[in-house]
Formats: sequence, C-alpha cells, structure tokens
Amino acid sequence: MALRTADQYRAGLRDGRRVFIMGKKVEDVTSDPYIKVGVETAAFDFRMGHDPEMKEKAVMADPETGEDISTYFELPDYPEAVAKRHELVKDACYYADGALPFIKDVGSDIINGLTVVAKLSGNKDYLERINAYRSYCARNDLSLAGAVTDVKGDRSKSPSQQTSPDYYLRVVDETADHIVVSGAKAHITAGPYTDEVLVIPTRNLTEDEADYAVAFAVPLNAEGITQVCRPNFRYEDHYHFPTPNPKRGHVESLLIFDNVKVPMERVFMLRDWQFAQYLAYAFTAFHRYTAVTYKIPILEYMTGLGMLAAEANGVEKTSNIREKFVEMINYTETTKALAKAAYNDPENFADSGLFVANRLTANMAKLYFASHFHEFVRTIQDIAGGLVVTQPTYQDWQNKELHPYLERYLGGAGEYTAEKRLKLMSMLHHVVASDFAGWHEVCTIHAEGSFAAQKMMLLAEAPMEMYKNRARQTIGLDI
Ligand SMILES: Cc1cc2nc3c(=O)[nH]c(=O)nc-3n(C[C@H](O)[C@H](O)[C@H](O)COP(=O)(O)OP(=O)(O)OC[C@H]3O[C@@H](n4cnc5c(N)ncnc54)[C@H](O)[C@@H]3O)c2cc1C
Repeated sequence: MALRTADQYRAGLRDGRRVFIMGKKVEDVTSDPYIKVGVETAAFDFRMGHDPEMKEKAVMADPETGEDISTYFELPDYPEAVAKRHELVKDACYYADGALPFIKDVGSDIINGLTVVAKLSGNKDYLERINAYRSYCARNDLSLAGAVTDVKGDRSKSPSQQTSPDYYLRVVDETADHIVVSGAKAHITAGPYTDEVLVIPTRNLTEDEADYAVAFAVPLNAEGITQVCRPNFRYEDHYHFPTPNPKRGHVESLLIFDNVKVPMERVFMLRDWQFAQYLAYAFTAFHRYTAVTYKIPILEYMTGLGMLAAEANGVEKTSNIREKFVEMINYTETTKALAKAAYNDPENFADSGLFVANRLTANMAKLYFASHFHEFVRTIQDIAGGLVVTQPTYQDWQNKELHPYLERYLGGAGEYTAEKRLKLMSMLHHVVASDFAGWHEVCTIHAEGSFAAQKMMLLAEAPMEMYKNRARQTIGLDI
C-alpha cells in the first residue's frame, strides 16, 4: 500500500472500536466534537506525505521495495538520522499549526527501543518480529499509539506487592500461537484515533513478576479493548474568536485490555523480566528527544503571543516588559539550544547500531523545559493583563446590542482595534488561561516522563567520576 491520504486515515478509524467519552459510546471518532480535534491534528501526518513542500522530509524509500514510506519508520542506523528526525518532528509541528501530529512519533520510538533491546538480548525471534512489524507499519502507513504508563495503584509498591494484580498490565493466558493480556494503561495520547497500539512495561520487574514483562502490538479495534477519554476542547469553537484554522491538540485515553488476544508474531517480549527496565529506558532514550523537539514550535509561538500582547497593550517598550521579553527569549532559546546540542552529539546506543540524541543533554533539555514552563506561562499572563480571563466571548462580539460597546471600549494601542485586540486575547485565553492551558501545564510536567525520570537519567548519564577526578587532581587528593 502506498502512503495513505488523510481521508483514508479517517476512514480506517471507523472500524468498530470501543471508545467512550463523558459516559457515552462514540459511534465515529472522526466526527465526535472533542475527539475530532485530535483526529484532525493527526491527519496532518497523512497530508505531509502528499505535500511537495513536506515530502522531502516526510517520505523515504522503503529500503527493500523502494516504495514511498513515512520517514518516521526509518531505522536510525547512522548518526545523521538523529538530526533528520529532529527536523521532521519540528517541521511536522509547524505544518500542523503548532501541534505535533503525534501518531507515528511515539510508536516509532517504541519500535526503536524494542529493536535495541532485541539486539542486546540476542533474541533472534524478537528481532525478526520487530523488524517485520516496522516494515508492516511502514508499508500500511499505520498510525500508532504508545502505551507505557500502567495505572500503578500504590506507587510505592511493585506489581506483585499491590493489593490488586490489575494495577499493571500482564499476561493472563498463553498458547503456542498467541498470548492473552489484561490490564489498563493510562493517559494514552491519540489512543482513540490511531490504528494500532504498541505496549511495553513501564518499570523494573522481578522474576516472580515475569507475567508483567510483556511487549506487543495490537489493533485498537481488537476484541476486549475499551478506551475511556475525556474532553479537552471542542473542534467547533464558537466561544473563542475564529482563527484561520481550527485549534489543534490531542486527546488521551484510559486504555483497557480485557482478555485481549495477541498473536505471537506481534509479541516482542514475553516474560523477559530482566529486560523490562532496560526496554523502558531504551524507549525513553528515543522518546524524550521527540518530546523536547516538538516543544520548540510551541515555545516560539507562545513567546510571540506574549510579545503581541505587550504591543496590543502599548507596553512593548517599557523596561519592566522588556525584562519579561528577556525571560521569554532566554527560556525559549535555551530550550532550543539544548535540543540542538543533543542532536549534534548523537550516540550509538549501547553499541546497538541505532543512534539517539545525546541522552544527558536531551534529558537536561526536557528537565529545563518542564521546570520553567509555569514561570513562562505566568510571564505571558502578567504581560497580557486581566482581559485574558474576563474578555467577552465571540458570541458577545457577534451580538448586535453589545458589539458597539465592545468596539468602543476594548480597543488597544496603535493598530489594535477592539477586534484585533480581542482576537489576540481570545487566543491567549486558550493558551494560558483555559482548561486546555491547565492541561498543557500538567502535560509539560508529566508527559514523556515526570521530573524524577529526567533527574534519574541525569544521574545515570552525567560524567560524575570525571567531575570528582577534576576536584581530586586540583586538591591533590589520593582517594
Ligand atoms: C498529557 C499526557 C499525555 C501522556 N501520554 C502518554 C502516552 O501516550 N503513553 C504513555 O504511556 N504515557 C503517557 N503519559 C503518561 C506519563 O508518562 C505519566 O503521566 C508520567 O510517567 C507520570 O506517571 P503518573 O501520571 O502515573 O504519575 P505518578 O507516577 O503517580 O507520579 C506522581 C508523582 O509521584 C512521584 N512518584 C511516583 N512513583 C514514585 C515512587 N515509587 N517513588 C517516589 N516518587 C514517586 C513522581 O515522581 C511524581 O512526582 C501522558 C501523560 C500526560 C499528562
């Protein structure tokens, strides 16, 4: 099959999947007013492959058949693949009005992580299966969700110590040609509108927890799969001022596996508890860099919004506001510089032959980004003023009785008529003061790993012996 179109992608989602939102079963995820936000954001991925401007980055030749496939499925077996991936993810984000399509990124990061672990473990079956799956996804141009995070119950306890065995996904049955799995994975981005899901363990496991050491892929309409998602914002947004294109974003789900059958050729790890933690680590080595990359267009855009708010309020030249510009620039450009430094120093991951961005720097980039995002939002809120939360809605603007008042009283500085100022404030509301803005703040902390995950990586990857040796040498300390 050649690269799919956005319409073919949407049609593929009408496959009988069980998705619920606000207590109701969704008949067609492509037309649900909330899930459609995610579907249409994801659809950009399928537009890129057919757009001459994006094709060079988004499409490559299948190494075996020569057929066009998505570059997301490339095996990163040369150092420059890391920078190439960075450019692809970043440009995909610019292309999708500032949001990442996100339906091949996480999946291909998991495929890469599984490939590394299959190589390192020396398990030829696993390696053959994951290589075959990579080709299958590429040749069928599939969209993928990645399910890593278990529901976890009591966080201080491992799976076998929990009061319920269901707090981590596990194998509940096995025959020669398939396994059966049960459990639930939480916060699964794009789960309601991707073709298949890749599942891997989220943590280290012990021998008596081997049933939890399972990695596999399965279509999201498979029997026994149910997804529960919550609304983020509506696709048809009559509340905010209209923008040239609808707003972009994603929807997560609680992904429930109730005795789901997985054929053995889609099982990439089975009871290899010794490798569970390393697999989670290998996945994050790829994925954390994806995360840092797609933040760049978002930060650039939000910095611009803050600057326009200052202009609209006529304070862009005052020293207190210039100080805030410096804060925004410093934050955005430091995040970008760290991301750049990470891809300029690619690593052959554990000599597997697969290349990742420098792990120490990539984790520093994510930690820096996530640690300062709330301050960044606060700066924009400060510049924009209270109108961000008290502004009349677009419905008020359209009301004939109210319109003249709004026109008369809500103009701004220079060329900022009331309409232009309100239009800007309306977007600022969406980005820094809405339900979505709250979602975004939490997302920056937890998605792609909470602070602690990056801190652990810093401790694991930093050259601590080198630091200490430098100090020892300077002091003349022989210990
Ligand atoms: C918007 C969004 C999208 C996401 N998308 C995906 C996705 O597509 N796929 C996916 O698999 N996951 C996804 N995630 C999940 C994300 O990776 C997790 O939220 C993150 O790993 C934290 O897990 P948690 O939410 O269970 O929080 P918790 O693990 O409960 O963490 C809460 C706090 O407790 C601390 N903590 C937890 N356990 C311990 C412990 N044992 N000891 C000490 N401290 C501890 C943490 O450091 C943190 O400070 C997404 C999350 C969000 C918010």
